[in-house]
This record gives sequence, structure tokens and C-alpha cells, in this order.
Amino acid sequence: MTNNKTIYYVKPLTNGITILKSIGGWTDSLKNLNIMYDIISFVVKGENQQYQFISPVNYYKQNWQKRKIRNVEFVFPKSHTFNVKKADSLIKLVKKLEIEWRLKPIEIEYIFTDTYDEIQSARGFIYSIGLGNRDKPSGISNDVDNIIYSAGNGENYFHEFVHVYLNRLHPKSPLNEGLAVYYGGSMGKPLKWHIQRLKNYLNNHKEIDLNKYDDFGYLDNFTNPDSAIKGMLCNIVFKKDGMIGLKRLAAYESMDEVFEKEFKFDLKNLNKELRELINRQ
Ligand SMILES: [Zn+2]
Repeated sequence: MTNNKTIYYVKPLTNGITILKSIGGWTDSLKNLNIMYDIISFVVKGENQQYQFISPVNYYKQNWQKRKIRNVEFVFPKSHTFNVKKADSLIKLVKKLEIEWRLKPIEIEYIFTDTYDEIQSARGFIYSIGLGNRDKPSGISNDVDNIIYSAGNGENYFHEFVHVYLNRLHPKSPLNEGLAVYYGGSMGKPLKWHIQRLKNYLNNHKEIDLNKYDDFGYLDNFTNPDSAIKGMLCNIVFKKDGMIGLKRLAAYESMDEVFEKEFKFDLKNLNKELRELINRQ
């Protein structure tokens, strides 16, 4: 099997920009091109042999709408009607998070579209595995440049804002995802919804052995069990000890430590103890 990437499209525009598109796939021993894994578009700027790649999103978003509220620059396609109410509720949550964690506002660029396909194509992915099959809200954040990309949840994908603010406090914390789910839910649904599904699933699947915690990585396309469990742990600790507890929790560097020190679990009995804890929610 050979992996192949081929440029199949080159279009120079009048403004010194050239759009390239590449296709990725693999060929078998008979040289048949098999299922492609992606088609990517690149934007190249320059002339006279002086070329540089520019990020596709920086190119495409030039024609998009922009709205700045407080520390957040909302960037979205022309076709989208800005929902001020939703944007305001995001800003409220951000302010509350800053107060609780005693943090200064972070300037964030929030690039969002109505669908996953749109955000991916703006990022240069014309086709990638999974495209067309992601109708639920999703987001990713870049907490170095403070840029958030999100799709399907409009002006308020708070989950990713939590990552931008909190990941940098404890880069080694295994609970950064848990905190984001605790505050902002996951894939468009609140933590409570995920815990309920997790509980039902585990009760119907007694064969799952949580002693091998890391092996339980998949439940279905709507609930990530690891995120739900971690969000749940944050919720339990917050209910018990408030912000002091949450800050203590965020400082641990491994799940073993979290289970042993915070929840007093015997790791050899993790399956039993964790299942009991989940069932009490
Ligand atoms: Zn996340």
C-alpha cells in the first residue's frame, strides 16, 4: 500500500493568490487508487518564485462578517444572521468564568459556521473522513493563538472558551476536557444528558471493565464516555467543595491521582467504585 498526495487543481487568481487542491488516498499493489482520505485546498500567495502558504481560513474569512463584543471577535459567513442574544449569553458565561478562576479577559477570535462541512471547507478541508456525517455541534480550539472554530452551535460554543481559558493553567491536567464539559457540555448537549446516557449504557454492558479505564473510549457518536466521566467528577467535586475543590482537582496530573486522592478509590476496585459513583448521579 502506498500513500499518495497529488495536486490536482491549480488556479491562479488575479490578486497574486493561487489556490491549490490536493487529493490524498492510497494505492494497492495493482496501483488502484483506493478510498481517498482527504482533499485539501491550499492558498498560496506571491509571484516571481517568492511564494508562501497562507492559512485557508485567513483567506476565506476576508469576506465574512465580523462582530466584536468585549474580548470576543465573532467571525462568520455572510449567510449567517448574527444572534445578539446568544452572543451576550456567551459573554456572560465568559465573565463568570474569569471571576471564578480570577483570570483576565483573553482576546479570542471565534470563527463559526452553521455546519461542520462549512467550517472544514473554510479550514481547507474540501473532503476529509467524517465530513458529511457530523450533524451535531462541534468545536476545536487553538489555545496558543486563542482561536476557536466551531460549527452547529452559533454564537455560543462555550465549551471551547473554557479550553482557551483553563488549559493553560494546568497543561498536564487530565481533567481539562472534564472542566470544559462540566461548564459547557459536549457536542451540543449538557453534562447531565451525557451522564444519564453513560449510566444506562454501563448498566446494560456489565462486561465493560472500568479497571481498564483507558479502554473505555467509545460509547456511540453522541456521548464520549471519558469526557462524560471527567465532567461528572468535576461536578461532584464542585458540589462538595465549590471553587476551592475544582481548583484542587485541576492541579492533579493523572487520573490515578484523581481517583485515589480525591475520591479515595482503591484502584484495584475501580470498576466497582466508579460504577457505584456513576449510579449515584
Ligand atoms: Zn473539549
